[in-house]
Amino acid sequence: MESTLTLYNTLSRRKERFEPLRPPFVGLYVCGPTVYGDPHLGHARPAITFDLLFRYLRALGYKVRYVRNITDVGHLEHDADEGEDKVSKKARLEQLEPMEVAHYYTERYHDAMRALNVLSPSIEPHASGHIIEQIELVRRILDRGFAYESNGSVYFDVEAYNKKYHYGKLSGRVLEDMLSNTRALDGQSDKHNPYDFALWKKASPEHIMRWPSPWSDGFPGWHLECSAMSMRYLGEQFDIHGGGMDLMFPHHECEIAQSTAACGHDAARYWVHNNMITINGQKMGKSLGNFITLEQLLTGNHPLLAQAYSAMTIRFFVLQAHYRSTLDFSNEALQAAEKGYERLMKAVSTLDKLKPSATSSVDIPGIEGRCRAAMDDDLNSPVVIAELFDCVRIINQVYDGHQTLTESDIAELKRVVRFYVFDVLGLRDDLAGDNSRMLSEVIDLVLDIRTQAKQSKDWTTSDRIRDGLGSIGIKVKDRKDGSDWEIE
Ligand code: ZN
Repeated sequence: MESTLTLYNTLSRRKERFEPLRPPFVGLYVCGPTVYGDPHLGHARPAITFDLLFRYLRALGYKVRYVRNITDVGHLEHDADEGEDKVSKKARLEQLEPMEVAHYYTERYHDAMRALNVLSPSIEPHASGHIIEQIELVRRILDRGFAYESNGSVYFDVEAYNKKYHYGKLSGRVLEDMLSNTRALDGQSDKHNPYDFALWKKASPEHIMRWPSPWSDGFPGWHLECSAMSMRYLGEQFDIHGGGMDLMFPHHECEIAQSTAACGHDAARYWVHNNMITINGQKMGKSLGNFITLEQLLTGNHPLLAQAYSAMTIRFFVLQAHYRSTLDFSNEALQAAEKGYERLMKAVSTLDKLKPSATSSVDIPGIEGRCRAAMDDDLNSPVVIAELFDCVRIINQVYDGHQTLTESDIAELKRVVRFYVFDVLGLRDDLAGDNSRMLSEVIDLVLDIRTQAKQSKDWTTSDRIRDGLGSIGIKVKDRKDGSDWEIE
C-alpha cells in the first residue's frame, strides 16, 4: 500500500511522508486525561484531533491499534513530579476512595467523548492497572545505569543520559540552559539534580495509593506510565505518539528519555502535537475565571457563554482550524461554527432531493481528489471543510435549478460528501433527529389549518384547535396575519 499521507513530525520539525513500520498495521498512542475533574474545552481538542487521525488512517485502509491511556495515579500537582497526587487529593477532599474518583471522572470523560462523536480507542489502559510493567521498566533503566535509588525513590539520571543521548531533542531544550533556569534543590530533596525526574516515589505515610516495589511502598512517576503502556501494547517501537503541545515538555521529553534509556532507541517514530485552545485570546486556567467545562458549553451555564452550544458545533469549531494552529474560543466564533454546521447538514439532507438531468453543468470528479490531498497534507481539515462548502453551494444551486447534474454525478457527490462529513470529519447529523424542530413544524402546520378555518368562518374547528393546544400547554396568540404560539 502506497502511503500518501504526510504528517508534521515534532521530532524532525518538518512534514514527513508517513510510512508505518509494519503495514498495514499502525500503532498510535495518545496521552489521555488525568481523571480528577470534569472534562473541559482543553480535553476536546486533542480528543477530536486524534480521532480525525484515527478515522483517516482507517479510511486509508490501515489497521490501527489506537491506545489512549487513563491517568489515575502518579500525576502530582507541581511540575507533575512534586506535591500531592491529583486523584488522591480530590479523594481526600471529597472523602472518597481514589478509585471512586477515577471511575467517576472516567465515566464523565467517556460521556463527553460520545457526545463529541469521538470514537473509542482500541485499548484504554489505566496507569494503576500496569504497576508491574512500570516496576519492570524502572528496573531496566536502573540496570542500564540511567537511574539511581535515593531513600526508597528512584530518579532518572538526566545528566548520565545526556552524556550518551540528547535530553531535550523533542522540545529543543538544552540541558545547560535548563540548569540555569531551574531552582536549586532545597536540601530536602532526594534528587541529585533538580531536573532529574521521578520513576518511582516512596509514599509518605498519609499517601493512600501505594504498591509494594523492590525500593519502597510507593507509586510510579507520571511520565513512566505512557512508556510502560505503549511498550506493553504497541511494542518497543511504534508509529505515532500524539498529545497536546502542553505535554511536549516535560512529559513527552521524559517518555523519550525513558524508552531510549531502556531500549537504546526512541519508541515513537512520529510525534504529533495539537496546539492549544485560548479563550478570548487568553490561556484557559482555573485562576483566570475562564475555565469552561464541556457540560457548561452544552448547557450554556457559564458567565462567558452567550448561549448553549451543541456538541457537534464544538466538534465543527475544532475541525475548522488546522490542529497545529491555536484556536481562539469566543461566542462569535462558536455562533459562526453553529451556522456553518447547520448549513452543511441541511445541504447533506438536500442531497436526497436532487433531481437528475441529462447533462451536468458543474464538475464533480475533482472534489474527491482535492479533499484527499487536503487530508494527506498533515490533516488539513479546514481545507476539507472549504471544499465541502463548495459542494454545499453546488447542491443548493442544483436544488434551486440554477445548475444541473446527471444521475451518476449526483451519486458521486453524495458518496464523497457523506464520506468526508461523516466518516472522516466524524460529524453527526444531530438536526435530522431533532424532535423539538419537528414539534414546532407540526404546531405551525396545525395553526395554518386553524387560520384557514377562521378564514372560512369555521369557528368550531378554530376554537377546538386553540383549546386543544392550550390543554397541552401550548398557548396560541392571535395576530392580524395569523397566529403565534409559545409553550407555557
Ligand atoms: Zn503520556
